[in-house]
Parts: sequence; structure tokens; C-alpha cells
Amino acid sequence: MDRYEPIIGLEIHVELKTLSKMFCGCSSDYFGHDPNTHCCPVCLGLPGALPVPNKKAIEWCVMLGMALGCKIPLFSKFDRKNYFYPDLPKGYQISQYDKPLAINGKLSFSYKDDKTGKIEKRVVRIHRVHLEEDTGKLLHAKVNAKDCTLIDFNRSGVPLVEIVTEPDIRSSIEARGFLKKLYQVIRYIGISDADMEKGSMRLEPNISERKIGEGDLPKYKVEVKNINSFKFAKKAIDYEVKRHTEILEKGQVPKQETRGWDEKKGVTFSQRSKEEAHDYRYFPEPDIPPIRWTEKYLQSLKESLPELPGEKIARFMKEYGLSEYDSAILTDEVAVANYFENSIKMGKDIQPKTIANWMINKKVTIEKVLPGEFINQIAKTLKKPAMDEKEVVDIIKQTISENEKAVQDYKSGKENALMFLLGQLMRKTSGRIDAETAKKLLKKNLG
Ligand code: ZN
Ligand code: MN
Repeated sequence: MDRYEPIIGLEIHVELKTLSKMFCGCSSDYFGHDPNTHCCPVCLGLPGALPVPNKKAIEWCVMLGMALGCKIPLFSKFDRKNYFYPDLPKGYQISQYDKPLAINGKLSFSYKDDKTGKIEKRVVRIHRVHLEEDTGKLLHAKVNAKDCTLIDFNRSGVPLVEIVTEPDIRSSIEARGFLKKLYQVIRYIGISDADMEKGSMRLEPNISERKIGEGDLPKYKVEVKNINSFKFAKKAIDYEVKRHTEILEKGQVPKQETRGWDEKKGVTFSQRSKEEAHDYRYFPEPDIPPIRWTEKYLQSLKESLPELPGEKIARFMKEYGLSEYDSAILTDEVAVANYFENSIKMGKDIQPKTIANWMINKKVTIEKVLPGEFINQIAKTLKKPAMDEKEVVDIIKQTISENEKAVQDYKSGKENALMFLLGQLMRKTSGRIDAETAKKLLKKNLG
């Protein structure tokens, strides 16, 4: 009974890894340090302290905007977003309101649909990318047997980029696909490690549902705050979608609100009713002059962007004759892509395709094996004669006896188990047999 469809947008906060904070000279490398050791009058919000914007942070935010296909307006400014909370001693956050650094972009990505196994391609529009400051962190602890809340201001004032998408996403799997691609782009540019466990990338999906066939956006939306993994984002969306459907089917409308995510129970819970922009009484930050770009300066920023994942995939396909699938695997992380290309340079007489196959099938540990050593391993194996069938069958028997559990799984119908056994077999034969033959012989010997 599929009468409703989810309408999902995402808001993502990413801490930039600039050396200093957004508006002061304090080190932004605060993680794991003693509380309140990375602070000064500016990031503590003491009266009279004046903010001085971090040029690098502004440029990085613009570069991210460019990588997300955004337009960069020549005029931009900071605004005060007023609200009271103990982690924000100034009583306002310096953020951006009506003149963000980047607007109207789009990000294309592909993802594997868990249900159909098919690779799907999507484009999600980016509404805006703006820059603001992070807040302090509340710690709930027991001091002298009394429950209390402590505040650590080390995080206060760390540059924070906020990326807001249009509500173009229609499922939790799609949302995860988008987030993974965004994560990859951020890491490619090298502006943040986007480490979700450390809180340097925080995810906030907003969810509503409408009747299939309806064109307008629903009149309500629910925002789930501060999720710290792709897995939880997917789970929180699934939970909300189910909850909304149940409410809508009763003829009611879900309440517009902000909800939290309880990762232990796997549920969302009501936190507060959703505030509107006018509740924040935004106004221009009087202590920071607006930003005016020249086309020439923006052009130089654009040129300083590295090759991005999509471009790298296209180049790998064209230059090395790889499939899109293999290119995507090899470009997942810049370090892996660089390793692959360094290996090609070291092993001029070995086909890039062969090197790619080795990297993908043998899972080389790029931190441990230098490209030169890796190439030597390939060269040595290529010189060995191919294995005869008897040799292979002996290794298959050995593999079968060593992996009883996987064999049982395979016999009870789990196709994954076969791929696992094949992987083991390929490792043992160090590339001296082709995968097709190996699979055929393996299946035959499993009966
Ligand atoms: Zn400071
Ligand atoms: Mn924000």
C-alpha cells in the first residue's frame, strides 16, 4: 500500500580543518584536548571582543560551493542569528542569512539500491552553502555526586560550513548515496576530514510525506538533529517515514518539529517545535564588513580546486580503458587513486588494466606496500606460468576445508559466500588463474 512518498532534504554541517578558528587566532585543532584550553575573549563571546574573519575558511567554503556546482554571488555578508543556549555565550551565532557564499548548485551521484541491486543515478539540487561558527559543547556529568552540565568552549568558533539541499530526495538509500558523495567531495578538496565520529560532519535530514501524484510540497516538515553516521541517517529517515505514514493514514498531519535521534533505541523523539527564521531576528553582523569578490579572484579559487571524483572517473575510463565501475572503486579515496597512478608510472610495461585488477581484487594495503614493491609483485607473478587445473583443484580443496562456514552458507543458498570463497581462492593463487575459470572450478568442486 504505497500511497505516500517521502520528501527528504538534507542539512549538513562540516567543520573546516583550518589551523585557527573562524573569528580569532585560537587553534581549531581541539579534538581530544583538555576542556577550555583553546579559547580567548573572542570565542568565549566576552563583551567588547571583536571578530576577525578567517580568510582561508571563507575561501574553502567558496571552493566547496564551486565543487557543488554553485553560483558564487559577488556580494556576501555575515549575520547574527540570535538565540539563547548555554553553549553560545554571545547570545547569537555569527552565521549567514540572506547573502550566503554559494547558492543554486547540484550534486550528481550514483548509489546501489539495496533492494534491486541496481546502480541508480541521481542529481540533488543544492540550495545554499554558507559559513558560520561552531558552538561550545555541553557535557552532562556527575560532580560530587550531583548531576550537572559542564561547558567546553574549545569547539566554540571553529569554522563550520552548512550545506542545505533542496527537498529532492525520495528515499533513505538515496539520502545515503548523496551523503557519501558529499563526504567524498569534501575529502577530495581536503578542507575537512569530515570525521563523523569526532563530530566534524553532522547530518540533519528533514522529512515529510505527500500523497503520490501530489505536486506541492507538504505543509509540514520534521527535522532530525545531529546524526553522526550514514547508517543512522538512513535509519532515522526510515523511522520517520514509517511514523509519518501511520499518522497520515489516520487522517492526521504530523507535527512540525525538531526531533532527536536515540541511537541505542533506534527511534527519534520530540525535542521542540520547529522555529521559523524570524524567531532568530537575523541582522547584519556590524563588526564584520561584507565580502565583495572580483571575478578574477573567484577564477583563481576555481583553478585551485583539485580534480574531483567525477572528473577522475571519466579520465580513468578514457586514459586507462577501465570500466566505470572499476574507476569508481579506484577513485573512492584520493590516496587510492594516487597510488594507482603512481603504480602505473613505476610499471610502464604492465597494462594499467592489470594493475587496476590487482588493486581491486587483492586489496593491497597502500599504507604498507610502496607502489614500486607492488609493481614488482605483479611483474613476478606475471612471469610465472599459468597454473594447470590439477594445481588449482588442490588449492580449491584446501580453501573449502579451511572455510567450512562459508561452504555451508553457500550450500544453503547464500550467493555472497561464493564470492567470499572466490576471494580466498584468488588470493591463494596470486593472480595466476583468471577469475572466470576459478569461479567455474570452484562451483564444480562445491558440488
Ligand atoms: Zn579564540
Ligand atoms: Mn547551522
